[in-house]
Amino acid sequence: MTEDSRVNNDLAQNMRVINQRIEQACVKAKRNRDEVRLLLATKTVDVTRIEKALALMEKPLMGENKVQELEEKGPQLAEPRTDIHFIGHLQSNKIKHVLRWADCIQSVDRLSLAKKLQNRLEFEHKHIDILVQVNTSYEDSKFGIQPEQAVELVKKISQFDRIHIKGLMTIGLFSDDKDKVRACFQRLVAIQQQVIAQKIPGVAMDELSMGMSGDLEIAIEEGATIIRVGTAIFGKRQYPDSYYWNESKR
Ligand SMILES: *Cc1c(COP(=O)(O)O)cnc(C)c1O
Repeated sequence: MTEDSRVNNDLAQNMRVINQRIEQACVKAKRNRDEVRLLLATKTVDVTRIEKALALMEKPLMGENKVQELEEKGPQLAEPRTDIHFIGHLQSNKIKHVLRWADCIQSVDRLSLAKKLQNRLEFEHKHIDILVQVNTSYEDSKFGIQPEQAVELVKKISQFDRIHIKGLMTIGLFSDDKDKVRACFQRLVAIQQQVIAQKIPGVAMDELSMGMSGDLEIAIEEGATIIRVGTAIFGKRQYPDSYYWNESKR
Protein backbone atom coordinates (compact mmCIF):
# COMPACT_ATOMS: atom_id res chain seq x y z
CA MET A 1 0.00 0.00 0.00
CA THR A 2 1.32 3.46 -0.79
CA GLU A 3 1.65 6.02 1.95
CA ASP A 4 -1.12 8.01 0.36
CA SER A 5 -3.67 5.23 0.23
CA ARG A 6 -2.83 4.21 3.77
CA VAL A 7 -3.63 7.72 4.97
CA ASN A 8 -6.86 7.68 2.97
CA ASN A 9 -7.87 4.37 4.46
CA ASP A 10 -7.21 5.67 7.94
CA LEU A 11 -9.36 8.71 7.32
CA ALA A 12 -12.20 6.69 5.84
CA GLN A 13 -11.98 4.19 8.65
CA ASN A 14 -11.90 6.91 11.31
CA MET A 15 -14.92 8.61 9.74
CA ARG A 16 -16.80 5.31 9.79
CA VAL A 17 -16.02 4.83 13.46
CA ILE A 18 -17.11 8.38 14.32
CA ASN A 19 -20.35 7.97 12.38
CA GLN A 20 -21.02 4.74 14.22
CA ARG A 21 -20.39 6.42 17.54
CA ILE A 22 -22.77 9.25 16.60
CA GLU A 23 -25.43 6.79 15.49
CA GLN A 24 -25.16 4.69 18.63
CA ALA A 25 -25.32 7.75 20.84
CA CYS A 26 -28.41 8.94 18.97
CA VAL A 27 -30.08 5.56 19.40
CA LYS A 28 -29.31 5.57 23.11
CA ALA A 29 -30.59 9.13 23.48
CA LYS A 30 -33.64 8.37 21.30
CA ARG A 31 -32.68 11.16 18.97
CA ASN A 32 -32.86 11.38 15.22
CA ARG A 33 -29.46 10.99 13.54
CA ASP A 34 -29.95 14.15 11.45
CA GLU A 35 -30.27 16.27 14.57
CA VAL A 36 -26.51 15.97 15.09
CA ARG A 37 -24.03 17.51 12.70
CA LEU A 38 -20.37 16.56 12.60
CA LEU A 39 -17.87 19.41 12.38
CA LEU A 40 -14.29 18.56 11.51
CA ALA A 41 -11.94 20.38 13.88
CA THR A 42 -9.10 20.93 11.44
CA LYS A 43 -6.42 22.85 13.34
CA THR A 44 -2.92 21.80 12.20
CA VAL A 45 -4.39 19.54 9.48
CA ASP A 46 -3.34 20.31 5.91
CA VAL A 47 -5.85 21.05 3.16
CA THR A 48 -5.27 17.78 1.30
CA ARG A 49 -6.33 15.70 4.27
CA ILE A 50 -9.14 18.08 5.20
CA GLU A 51 -10.60 17.75 1.71
CA LYS A 52 -10.39 13.98 1.79
CA ALA A 53 -12.38 13.96 4.98
CA LEU A 54 -14.85 16.57 3.71
CA ALA A 55 -15.47 14.47 0.62
CA LEU A 56 -16.79 11.71 2.88
CA MET A 57 -19.42 13.99 4.37
CA GLU A 58 -22.93 14.63 3.18
CA LYS A 59 -22.90 18.17 4.57
CA PRO A 60 -19.23 19.19 4.73
CA LEU A 61 -18.52 21.29 7.81
CA MET A 62 -15.18 22.29 9.26
CA GLY A 63 -13.94 24.55 12.03
CA GLU A 64 -10.67 26.43 12.40
CA ASN A 65 -9.18 27.90 15.58
CA LYS A 66 -6.57 30.26 14.25
CA VAL A 67 -7.11 33.16 11.89
CA GLN A 68 -3.80 32.49 10.23
CA GLU A 69 -4.67 28.88 9.43
CA LEU A 70 -8.07 29.96 8.16
CA GLU A 71 -6.45 32.45 5.80
CA GLU A 72 -3.99 29.89 4.52
CA LYS A 73 -6.49 27.11 3.97
CA GLY A 74 -9.51 29.15 2.86
CA PRO A 75 -8.28 29.92 -0.65
CA GLN A 76 -7.10 26.35 -1.19
CA LEU A 77 -10.39 24.67 -0.39
CA ALA A 78 -11.97 23.33 -3.53
CA GLU A 79 -15.13 21.85 -1.97
CA PRO A 80 -17.65 24.66 -2.56
CA ARG A 81 -20.32 23.20 -0.30
CA THR A 82 -18.15 23.39 2.76
CA ASP A 83 -19.46 25.39 5.68
CA ILE A 84 -16.61 26.94 7.60
CA HIS A 85 -17.02 27.85 11.25
CA PHE A 86 -14.56 29.74 13.38
CA ILE A 87 -14.16 27.96 16.73
CA GLY A 88 -11.11 29.60 18.31
CA HIS A 89 -10.47 32.66 20.40
CA LEU A 90 -11.09 35.70 18.22
CA GLN A 91 -9.12 38.89 18.75
CA SER A 92 -11.10 41.88 17.55
CA ASN A 93 -8.30 43.16 15.31
CA LYS A 94 -8.68 39.99 13.22
CA ILE A 95 -12.42 40.16 12.64
CA LYS A 96 -12.20 41.19 8.99
CA HIS A 97 -10.03 38.20 8.12
CA VAL A 98 -12.44 35.79 9.74
CA LEU A 99 -15.43 37.37 8.01
CA ARG A 100 -13.84 36.62 4.66
CA TRP A 101 -14.10 32.86 5.26
CA ALA A 102 -16.42 32.01 8.10
CA ASP A 103 -20.11 31.19 7.75
CA CYS A 104 -20.46 31.14 11.51
CA ILE A 105 -18.37 32.30 14.47
CA GLN A 106 -18.91 29.89 17.36
CA SER A 107 -16.68 31.71 19.82
CA VAL A 108 -18.31 35.07 20.53
CA ASP A 109 -17.86 35.52 24.27
CA ARG A 110 -17.85 39.23 25.03
CA LEU A 111 -19.80 42.36 24.21
CA SER A 112 -16.78 44.34 23.01
CA LEU A 113 -16.14 41.73 20.32
CA ALA A 114 -19.78 41.74 19.23
CA LYS A 115 -19.73 45.53 18.98
CA LYS A 116 -16.70 45.51 16.72
CA LEU A 117 -18.19 42.69 14.71
CA GLN A 118 -21.37 44.71 14.16
CA ASN A 119 -19.33 47.74 13.04
CA ARG A 120 -17.34 45.74 10.56
CA LEU A 121 -20.47 43.99 9.24
CA GLU A 122 -22.15 47.35 8.68
CA PHE A 123 -19.09 48.51 6.79
CA GLU A 124 -19.13 45.39 4.61
CA HIS A 125 -22.94 45.25 4.22
CA LYS A 126 -22.85 41.71 5.56
CA HIS A 127 -24.50 39.52 8.19
CA ILE A 128 -23.06 36.66 10.20
CA ASP A 129 -24.34 33.71 12.24
CA ILE A 130 -22.78 33.27 15.65
CA LEU A 131 -22.90 31.06 18.70
CA VAL A 132 -22.15 32.45 22.14
CA GLN A 133 -19.32 30.55 23.81
CA VAL A 134 -19.88 29.74 27.47
CA ASN A 135 -17.17 28.64 29.92
CA THR A 136 -19.23 25.86 31.49
CA SER A 137 -16.23 24.29 33.23
CA TYR A 138 -15.30 27.52 35.02
CA GLU A 139 -11.66 26.87 34.15
CA ASP A 140 -9.43 29.93 34.04
CA SER A 141 -7.64 28.45 31.07
CA LYS A 142 -10.72 28.51 28.87
CA PHE A 143 -12.43 31.32 27.06
CA GLY A 144 -16.16 31.85 27.12
CA ILE A 145 -18.60 33.96 29.09
CA GLN A 146 -19.33 32.81 32.64
CA PRO A 147 -22.59 30.82 32.77
CA GLU A 148 -24.20 33.33 35.15
CA GLN A 149 -23.63 36.15 32.67
CA ALA A 150 -24.53 34.32 29.49
CA VAL A 151 -28.22 35.24 29.23
CA GLU A 152 -27.42 38.91 29.72
CA LEU A 153 -24.74 38.77 27.02
CA VAL A 154 -27.13 37.11 24.57
CA LYS A 155 -29.66 39.85 25.27
CA LYS A 156 -27.13 42.59 24.63
CA ILE A 157 -25.75 41.01 21.46
CA SER A 158 -29.29 40.55 20.14
CA GLN A 159 -29.48 44.30 19.68
CA PHE A 160 -26.90 44.15 16.90
CA ASP A 161 -28.96 43.66 13.76
CA ARG A 162 -26.21 42.14 11.63
CA ILE A 163 -25.35 39.41 14.12
CA HIS A 164 -27.66 36.41 14.12
CA ILE A 165 -27.44 34.36 17.29
CA LYS A 166 -28.12 30.71 16.50
CA GLY A 167 -27.26 29.05 19.79
CA LEU A 168 -24.46 28.28 22.24
CA MET A 169 -21.06 26.62 22.23
CA THR A 170 -18.92 25.14 24.98
CA ILE A 171 -15.82 23.07 25.59
CA GLY A 172 -16.55 20.54 28.32
CA LEU A 173 -14.23 19.88 31.22
CA PHE A 174 -11.31 17.62 30.31
CA SER A 175 -11.84 14.88 32.85
CA ASP A 176 -12.36 11.15 33.23
CA ASP A 177 -15.19 11.97 35.57
CA LYS A 178 -18.13 11.67 33.20
CA ASP A 179 -20.53 13.28 35.64
CA LYS A 180 -18.45 16.42 35.72
CA VAL A 181 -18.27 16.53 31.93
CA ARG A 182 -22.01 15.95 31.71
CA ALA A 183 -22.62 18.78 34.19
CA CYS A 184 -20.89 21.18 31.77
CA PHE A 185 -23.20 20.21 28.93
CA GLN A 186 -26.23 20.38 31.20
CA ARG A 187 -25.19 23.88 32.20
CA LEU A 188 -25.23 24.88 28.53
CA VAL A 189 -28.70 23.39 28.05
CA ALA A 190 -29.94 25.24 31.15
CA ILE A 191 -28.74 28.52 29.65
CA GLN A 192 -30.39 27.64 26.35
CA GLN A 193 -33.67 27.09 28.18
CA GLN A 194 -33.34 30.38 30.09
CA VAL A 195 -32.75 32.27 26.86
CA ILE A 196 -35.70 30.59 25.16
CA ALA A 197 -37.92 31.51 28.12
CA GLN A 198 -36.98 35.18 27.68
CA LYS A 199 -38.31 35.18 24.09
CA ILE A 200 -35.66 37.65 22.92
CA PRO A 201 -36.54 38.98 19.45
CA GLY A 202 -34.21 37.78 16.72
CA VAL A 203 -32.49 35.16 18.86
CA ALA A 204 -32.58 31.49 17.84
CA MET A 205 -31.37 28.85 20.28
CA ASP A 206 -31.46 25.82 17.97
CA GLU A 207 -27.76 25.03 18.00
CA LEU A 208 -25.78 23.51 20.85
CA SER A 209 -22.17 23.01 19.80
CA MET A 210 -20.66 20.69 22.39
CA GLY A 211 -18.77 17.42 22.47
CA MET A 212 -15.40 16.44 20.99
CA SER A 213 -13.49 13.21 20.31
CA GLY A 214 -13.52 12.12 23.94
CA ASP A 215 -16.97 13.17 25.09
CA LEU A 216 -19.25 13.28 22.06
CA GLU A 217 -21.56 10.54 23.36
CA ILE A 218 -22.28 12.47 26.55
CA ALA A 219 -22.84 15.66 24.55
CA ILE A 220 -25.28 13.93 22.20
CA GLU A 221 -27.18 12.49 25.15
CA GLU A 222 -27.48 16.00 26.54
CA GLY A 223 -28.70 17.51 23.28
CA ALA A 224 -25.72 18.54 21.14
CA THR A 225 -26.61 19.56 17.57
CA ILE A 226 -23.00 20.11 16.49
CA ILE A 227 -20.11 17.97 17.69
CA ARG A 228 -16.57 19.13 16.91
CA VAL A 229 -14.17 16.28 16.24
CA GLY A 230 -10.46 16.47 15.47
CA THR A 231 -8.20 13.82 16.99
CA ALA A 232 -10.52 10.88 16.44
CA ILE A 233 -10.49 11.60 12.69
CA PHE A 234 -7.10 13.13 11.97
CA GLY A 235 -4.99 11.66 14.75
CA LYS A 236 -3.02 13.32 17.49
CA ARG A 237 -1.84 16.88 17.12
CA GLN A 238 1.65 18.17 17.68
CA TYR A 239 0.68 20.96 20.05
CA PRO A 240 -1.28 20.70 23.28
CA ASP A 241 -4.75 22.17 22.99
CA SER A 242 -3.87 24.85 25.52
CA TYR A 243 -1.89 26.41 22.70
CA TYR A 244 -5.16 26.97 20.88
CA TRP A 245 -7.48 27.65 23.76
CA ASN A 246 -5.73 30.16 25.92
CA GLU A 247 -3.13 31.88 23.80
CA SER A 248 -3.44 35.22 25.55
CA LYS A 249 -3.90 33.61 28.94
CA ARG A 250 -0.60 31.78 29.09
C1 LIG B 1 -9.48 21.02 18.76
C2 LIG B 1 -10.87 21.38 19.10
C3 LIG B 1 -11.90 20.44 19.05
C4 LIG B 1 -11.66 18.98 18.71
O1 LIG B 1 -10.97 18.34 19.74
P1 LIG B 1 -10.60 16.79 19.63
O2 LIG B 1 -10.43 16.37 21.04
O3 LIG B 1 -9.35 16.71 18.83
O4 LIG B 1 -11.71 16.10 18.95
C5 LIG B 1 -13.17 20.88 19.35
N1 LIG B 1 -13.44 22.15 19.67
C6 LIG B 1 -12.49 23.08 19.73
C7 LIG B 1 -12.85 24.47 20.10
C8 LIG B 1 -11.17 22.72 19.44
O5 LIG B 1 -10.23 23.65 19.52
